[in-house]
Amino acid sequence: MTIASTPRTDQLLTLRNVVKHFDISGGLLDQLRFQNGRLTRRRTTVKAVNNVSFSITAGETFSVVGESGCGKSTLARTTIGIYPPNRGEILYRDQRIDNKNAQQMLPFRRKMQMIFQDPYASLNPRKTVMQTLEEPVVFHNPRISSADVRQRVATVMSQVGVDPKWAGRYPHEFSGGQRQRISIARALMVDPEFIVADEPVSALDVSIQAQILNLLMDAQQQRGLTYLFITHDLSVVEHISTRVAVMYLGTLCELSPAKPLFETPRHPYTQALLSAIPKLGRPASQHIRLRGEVPTPIHLPSGCVFHGRCIHANQRCREEIPMPKQVETGVIVACHGIEEGRI
Ligand code: ADP
Repeated sequence: MTIASTPRTDQLLTLRNVVKHFDISGGLLDQLRFQNGRLTRRRTTVKAVNNVSFSITAGETFSVVGESGCGKSTLARTTIGIYPPNRGEILYRDQRIDNKNAQQMLPFRRKMQMIFQDPYASLNPRKTVMQTLEEPVVFHNPRISSADVRQRVATVMSQVGVDPKWAGRYPHEFSGGQRQRISIARALMVDPEFIVADEPVSALDVSIQAQILNLLMDAQQQRGLTYLFITHDLSVVEHISTRVAVMYLGTLCELSPAKPLFETPRHPYTQALLSAIPKLGRPASQHIRLRGEVPTPIHLPSGCVFHGRCIHANQRCREEIPMPKQVETGVIVACHGIEEGRI
């Protein structure tokens, strides 16, 4: 299945039919079951990401949205090489990176950095800010002088709005927002091109969220960064994204430039997701309430993974996986109902 982006040049990162499943069968004894008087062995697999394809253009903010558990973090971690994909290809500037060993990945590691949701968990509590920030620089440039490293730490700390005088302090001595600024500084220390930001503001107070988003946008402008931005918070996405991919049960159902997605959501799931954003003047009666619950990614539904919750679903939706189709320039939707003109 190809949900490729609009044809563009200068594609920084491409995913082709990426699959990431987790085997949670446990040990052999956990897998054995008595069924009809016979001992059988059963494996259990979480199908977190299924046949996902897209390309991210240099300089854009590509957001992936969807409810908790739909596979966003797994997709982010697979993209950056924390998890190896089970199938598919990941390319960085036309070079395959999914099949490289740790040594071969080193030059790519410098270019690709990640910012996590919880800065307290992602910063080492026993290291000062200086130690945290100098570590990646020294790792990637072993011959750099300590004066140069300190200078670089001071410059980046100023850029992210943390006073360089505090470089000797530990993470617990900072507020949540400042800690996230330090996490961003750590990512910027090695001069990356591509940053995966996994829910970077979800753990912060609303008043701080805008400051951190502005910092990320300023850094993007100043350094020409490309972002893969993961979030469940659609109100954040609307203002910062170039394009948005909507994910449901490990599958992309819609991929669109941000403006048309928010103005005219196409896929029934996107419509329901967007109707839940509180908006002045929109009565609660206009919220689309989906029937049923999100199925488990251990037993994916047949056909369209959304069919059990979709009021437009018919027999074809229950049987046949919908292929992504372009419905207008740059807007790609995987839905039989839209393809047939029923929706
Ligand atoms: P999201 O980021 O959208 O909340 P995740 O990618 O964290 O979703 O999770 C997708 C599915 O994969 C969930 O069912 C989750 O429980 C499962 N999952 C995520 N990481 C692991 C793992 N390391 N081992 C087993 N299952 C996992």
